[in-house]
Amino acid sequence: MSLPSEQPSPKQYVATCPACQSKSLVVTELCYKLPNFGDVYLLSASCSTCGFKHTDILELSPHQEPSRYTVKVESPRDLNVLVVRSSSASVVMPELGVTITPGPYAQGVITTIEGFLHKAKEIVEFLLSSEVDEERKRRCLDILKRLDKAIDGEEHFTFIIEDPSGLSVVVPKEGVPTKIIKEPLASGD
Ligand SMILES: [Zn+2]
Repeated sequence: MSLPSEQPSPKQYVATCPACQSKSLVVTELCYKLPNFGDVYLLSASCSTCGFKHTDILELSPHQEPSRYTVKVESPRDLNVLVVRSSSASVVMPELGVTITPGPYAQGVITTIEGFLHKAKEIVEFLLSSEVDEERKRRCLDILKRLDKAIDGEEHFTFIIEDPSGLSVVVPKEGVPTKIIKEPLASGD
């Protein structure tokens, strides 16, 4: 995974933990400058009393409208496209059978499309380990096979990220002509 090369300058402060109410939540704000895009603020919080952890995307400039990005992954180089995902965004990879919805504990993250493939693999492996139904087990194994092929760059697929908050963005890798479509996200979609 390659993050922007410029050194982020962290800002840190202590706040009240939403989980245990102790005044021991250390909040760190990092500002990343993304090439051809602008500033992204990554917030990470960690409580030394109860172990509560949360990360999220704070703010982007300029402010964004609810949006959907569709990325056509057609070469291994497209896997390096940078994705900023806020905690309210859904990620769908239809050909791979993968949907990641924003749950109450969803985290904001800055990673690559390849990073999402590894994350999806972790989730499916976890589901598989607790699955008893043979048919659903087969389906998990099938998805894992396709994820492995996608990670190796042998499978073309579509990567879609939808964010009602508009904070999520897809940033193309410099010099790589990845097909990225950005469109407004209509309510009711
Ligand atoms: Zn706590």
